[in-house]
Amino acid sequence: MQGRNEYPLYINGEEVTTAGNWLTVSNPATGEVIGKVPYIGRTEVQYAIDAAHQAFYSWSKMPARNRAKLLQRASQAIMDDIDHISEILTKEQGKPLAEARGEITMAADYLEWFGEEAKRVYGEIIPASTENKRLQVIRQPVGVVGAITPWNFPASMVTRKIAPALAAGCTVVLKPASATPLTAIALFELFKKVGFPAGVVNLVVGPAQEIADEFMRNPVVRKVSFTGSTAVGRTLIKGAADGIKKLSLELGGHAPFLVFDDCDMDEAVQGVIASKFRNAGQTCICANRLYVQKNILEQFQGKLKDAVTGLKVGNGLEPGIEVGPLINEEAREHVINQVQDAVGRGGNIIAGGFIPDLGLPGVFYAPTLIANVSDNALLSTEETFGPLIGIRSFDTEQEAIELANNTPYGLSAYLYARDFGRITRVSEGLEFGIIGVNDPVPTVVQAPFGGVKESGWGREGGWQGLDAYVETKFISVKY
Ligand code: NAP
Repeated sequence: MQGRNEYPLYINGEEVTTAGNWLTVSNPATGEVIGKVPYIGRTEVQYAIDAAHQAFYSWSKMPARNRAKLLQRASQAIMDDIDHISEILTKEQGKPLAEARGEITMAADYLEWFGEEAKRVYGEIIPASTENKRLQVIRQPVGVVGAITPWNFPASMVTRKIAPALAAGCTVVLKPASATPLTAIALFELFKKVGFPAGVVNLVVGPAQEIADEFMRNPVVRKVSFTGSTAVGRTLIKGAADGIKKLSLELGGHAPFLVFDDCDMDEAVQGVIASKFRNAGQTCICANRLYVQKNILEQFQGKLKDAVTGLKVGNGLEPGIEVGPLINEEAREHVINQVQDAVGRGGNIIAGGFIPDLGLPGVFYAPTLIANVSDNALLSTEETFGPLIGIRSFDTEQEAIELANNTPYGLSAYLYARDFGRITRVSEGLEFGIIGVNDPVPTVVQAPFGGVKESGWGREGGWQGLDAYVETKFISVKY
């Protein structure tokens, strides 16, 4: 793929190299156009869905160990090509190269781990109520899956859906985010190379709403799996009503980060940096609200200010860069608006709060810390998705839990403490799907990832991630 400017889509095992329209992809650090991708319409998407439908029967009947081998081959192919794909990811998405490599490794891990799980889609025999019956439960793939992914993790969000779906025996039509299709294309190039049968995995790029509408209306698509904003998730729920379409939704977050006075303070400072400033604050599980126990506030704030000020911002391809650009100008405007709003409501900027002068045309913003943030500030009430965090103090455990839970979101929450009783009480009191205790990066392939409340439906990762792609069938046999 290196050196090319036009990139293909993959439908029914073929490369799609032409279209009436093209999508251009730019590097958010430099503003430079880095590629063109065919931008297709409903007819081609229907063709991709038909191809997935045609492929479904033989793919679902293929012995699980053979499907597993293909998934594991794909995983290995990704790791063999990690330098190349990481560079594409950094170029189109902006995250530092080291982070891109971490994401590609995780993308490969999903394929490897779910490949192993493919062999363990067990059923059960239930004791019958009469002597002449055998009650069997089997688990079968749901069918053709429509998958829609966001730009912030253009590799791992793709395989977190594709790997369990294929492992279960489903076939897939994937629509990646328009800002970052090149990473998905690099993965699909490898899927073709390792020999997935035609139609098993298909890649389409085009108008999001039209593609989603086709997924919803087309009776062949039996499940839609979406990762993205809560606003779009809500429209998908409405769209799924007519066809009673199964949905998995990984939506927005607004994570609280609680720092208690018995914590290891230096670790907690590093935890905030890792949780908040990874991917320039553009992760759904980013710390978004920082609550620190009053008696350690001043000391903690001083240490955090130094750490935030020390972060190196720039083009993620350059060595030593810790914070890359935002994805686009709209994202930066959103951050600036939250900063102005917080300051207007009495907050004090203690680090950052400006556009750094890096001599690059990219969409950068300095890592920013605002103290004394009001509970009514936008920063306290909505997802930031940028390198900005607000800090506020609390007195008691109960107050911390109430502040943390005071949001419609429920994806992830963090707490730093040492006392086991406190850790247990607080973890159990937090209304979130993922809790990081002294752990700012809790995501692993083998554990369930997902949210409660308006952060979504279902889980990805872990055995639960595969369960999302199977139907349970009960067979009652009288003999
Ligand atoms: P987004 O605007 O919702 O876009 C996500 C995907 O949905 C993209 O592929 C997008 O396509 C597509 N899309 C846009 N409008 C659509 C519509 N009307 N119908 C169907 N699909 C539509 O979200 P984003 O800005 O890319 O991603 C950031 C959001 O994702 C944040 O809220 C973040 O918290 C969330 N997220 C959640 C998780 C999780 O696991 N819970 C993980 C990562 C991100 P186009 O790109 O073509 O517009």
